[in-house]
Amino acid sequence: MPMGNIQKQKFEAWINANMPHHPITCPLCGTAQWDMAEIIESSGISGVLAPMAQLVCRSCGHILLFDAKKAGVV
Ligand SMILES: [Zn+2]
Repeated sequence: MPMGNIQKQKFEAWINANMPHHPITCPLCGTAQWDMAEIIESSGISGVLAPMAQLVCRSCGHILLFDAKKAGVV
């Protein structure tokens, strides 16, 4: 599901508090513009679903995934 405004605010605050090199540079295209997009559920081999928060590069579409619980968005 797309992140709501409150979730985006929490995610941005968590990023600012935990990433000293923010804004993050995309490892593929080198730009530093990202969109906070969706919260997805990802499953490991165990089959347990984990909520993940997407950070999507505006230029190339590369996606960074973060533990949504740790990032405070769920
Ligand atoms: Zn990129």
